[in-house]
Amino acid sequence: MPEDRVGFIGLGVMGAPMARNLLAAGHDVVAFTRTRAKVDDLVAEAPDHAAAAGSPREVAEQAGVVVLMLPDSPQVQDVLDGDDGVLAGARSGSLVVDMSTISPVVTRELAERCAEQGVGWVDAPVSGGDVGAREATLSIMAGGSEEDFARARPLFEALGKTIVHVGPVGAGQVVKACNQVVVALTIEAVSEALVLGSRAGVDPATIIEVLSGGLAANKVMEVRGRNFLEHDFTPGFRVELHHKDLGIALQTAREYGVALPNTAAVDQMLQALRANGRGDRDHSVLLNHIEDLAQHTIGAPPEHD
Ligand code: NAD
Repeated sequence: MPEDRVGFIGLGVMGAPMARNLLAAGHDVVAFTRTRAKVDDLVAEAPDHAAAAGSPREVAEQAGVVVLMLPDSPQVQDVLDGDDGVLAGARSGSLVVDMSTISPVVTRELAERCAEQGVGWVDAPVSGGDVGAREATLSIMAGGSEEDFARARPLFEALGKTIVHVGPVGAGQVVKACNQVVVALTIEAVSEALVLGSRAGVDPATIIEVLSGGLAANKVMEVRGRNFLEHDFTPGFRVELHHKDLGIALQTAREYGVALPNTAAVDQMLQALRANGRGDRDHSVLLNHIEDLAQHTIGAPPEHD
């Protein structure tokens, strides 16, 4: 029965383990991604429960609910449109669950087009990274009608721990943009504090330890503290993805007439890191940018004038 199968499009860093978790939870999955070999790997692991589709259209023809986990708005638009797109194969009553991080403005446009065809939409971006995707501990922030959210919920339970229905269509992407603003600006603030403290002669590990006990405590220092101290910028979450997400926040801010001065500044810092070849590093590499401005590497022996 098509309704019982879950469609999955986009088997990347996040999508591949998420599709595996759906299979592990007992769902039958029909999948498509740009690189055929990744679908074949999934089918080989669970031949009785996973099937390969030749296009997004075929996915929608064979599944009542289609999950998307794609890089950005243009790719989501691509898989929906055209003769081979999801909308060419979807029936009235189908549901698209977009778990990619994309623009809330584009989301609302795409959801409206789906609604014209009787197809529902839930935007459900996630946080928790590749580890959360593998361990099925993602935080999922979902936007959509009560009815569509209830339909998607069993899938979310196979993928994440914190599942919150945050509002109507688009609200999930709005909350994700808010999340990305806070994380980026926190990384930048911690970097400034560490460079200031270290340049002025205090051990950066001590700064993190003491700050963690007061109002300045934050999850970035807890989860990325070691990366800062050891200058280990192995991703994690890549600069280029975070730069994309601040672009979404700034575009949304422009749409609604909201000024985000510090988000704009950090967006430019991430742009600079990409331009000098650090786009594939973890976003904690923002520390390098602040170190460059001060000509000081944290933890280096104190300099004397
Ligand atoms: P990724 O680049 O690893 O994976 C994207 C997948 O989509 C790839 O397999 C690619 O082949 C496929 N794809 C691209 N265009 C396609 C098309 N037109 N048709 C079919 N398949 C196509 O990206 P990712 O890290 O898995 O991230 C996916 C989304 O999740 C992004 O929006 C990202 O911002 C978000 N996200 C990522 C993380 C993370 O830690 N990586 C954390 C939270 C959210």
